[in-house]
Amino acid sequence: MISGYSLHSLPEWAMQLFRDMVRARLPSNSVTVLALTRCLPYPFGLHGFLYRVGFAGRESDVSVANCLISCYGKCGEVECAREVFDEMCERRRDIVSYNAMVSCYAQNGLADKVLELYDEIRDSGRVRMDAVTLVSVLSACANLGARALGREIERDISGDRSFNSNLFLKNALINMHARCGDLNRACEIFDCMQEKTLVSWTALISGYGAHGHGRKGLELFERMLSNGIKPDGVVMVSVLSACSHSGLTGKGLEYFEKMESGFDIKRGPEHYACAVDLLGRAGHLDKAWELIRSMQIEPDGGVWGALLGACKIHKNVELGRLAFDHLVEIEPTNVGYYVLLSNIYLDAGKLDDVARVRAMMKKRGLKKEPGCSYVELKGKVHLFMADDHSHPLAKSIYQMINKLETLVNNERGGGNKEDGEESEKVVGFHSEKLAIAFGLLSTEAGKEIVVIKNLRVCGDCHVFLKFVSKIVNRKLVVRDASRFHHFEDGACSCNDYW
Ligand SMILES: [Zn+2]
Ligand SMILES: [Zn+2]
Repeated sequence: MISGYSLHSLPEWAMQLFRDMVRARLPSNSVTVLALTRCLPYPFGLHGFLYRVGFAGRESDVSVANCLISCYGKCGEVECAREVFDEMCERRRDIVSYNAMVSCYAQNGLADKVLELYDEIRDSGRVRMDAVTLVSVLSACANLGARALGREIERDISGDRSFNSNLFLKNALINMHARCGDLNRACEIFDCMQEKTLVSWTALISGYGAHGHGRKGLELFERMLSNGIKPDGVVMVSVLSACSHSGLTGKGLEYFEKMESGFDIKRGPEHYACAVDLLGRAGHLDKAWELIRSMQIEPDGGVWGALLGACKIHKNVELGRLAFDHLVEIEPTNVGYYVLLSNIYLDAGKLDDVARVRAMMKKRGLKKEPGCSYVELKGKVHLFMADDHSHPLAKSIYQMINKLETLVNNERGGGNKEDGEESEKVVGFHSEKLAIAFGLLSTEAGKEIVVIKNLRVCGDCHVFLKFVSKIVNRKLVVRDASRFHHFEDGACSCNDYW
């Protein structure tokens, strides 16, 4: 009966029946409780109740606790989930409990916590990880750019037949390698897969896109189509943004048109956002604006954000302001948009407007998202914030940056060292500079350094890194919020287009 109510989304009725059951002293078991939790949007009321009737707490039923962890995870209550997890006696935790906690962290974007828990599971040696655990962990590695750890996991499972034939794991590996900057390995795994799913193709196409190999991404997409695989909305986002990152405007718009007429996929706001980005980057701001006006569905933050971004590139104040007016309605607390608009004003020399935007941010209690960069060394992830002095090697890191600054200024030829110093003081030491300096200090000469950054690389750092790659004669790879930059011999793979 409780299951029935649950299936028909009648949580109050299910809960009432459960109370009656407890009152009548009828023994309930985990099946009862699981049926109940399935229909509750929010497990708060139930959790306290389960305590009283003995289903929660230290000696709680494992499947009930696992279910509560997942419930809390799904509604974003990470701390509550962790509380239930911690309350469970350690010897009672099974792999499902760990997986519930791992995916709770993963769903809520806490990739570093996922890796922490992974270490805990591995060190305890008590439960055996399964494919579900590893898929979550690999996706956390992908987000953090934790390449060494990802490779270690790949090595660990490569001998295991059941893992080797697991499609989800293979797809997770492709995604991890592509997002950690090793496109070759991603391709190898892809090529060796006997059976490929749409997810496999999507992972590799979006990998090509992020690295600026748009044409290869499109070739792969065409190959996918000729293999008889039907595209979906997700792969189309990868295809369109691959076009956008490589400046393939015409091709991208062609696919955008073909989505509904040729592939029978309904275009969502995310696809319109890609099309606006394509048009906008290519300088067709008027056409982008027309496209938004012609939309049959409500444009979302992504669509207006793409227009705003294009206005920043092409210094269009009027349209930028217009896009921003829509954005504050839709996402009033998204700091990125305020920063973009104030930069548009700054470029146009409209200092009053810059001040106005800053005042607006202040009034709403919004602060710029702090930039941070990760670099991985021997399986450990090192995190740097801007102007960060907390790292044990901070002193040498700053010495290294100063040395590089001087060399870069000499290389730039102007010899205008004072200017350089001054602009650096205004900008401060952005996290990617610290991460690169740390990488240079801690790895052997000639070795490639990979840095993951949460925001976009700024123009200053981009120039700096180009010069540094030439001076130290190393490949520097930076994955920022929008794409990969491969700095080599004084140039970047993005052709200054990001
Ligand atoms: Zn910077
Ligand atoms: Zn670049």
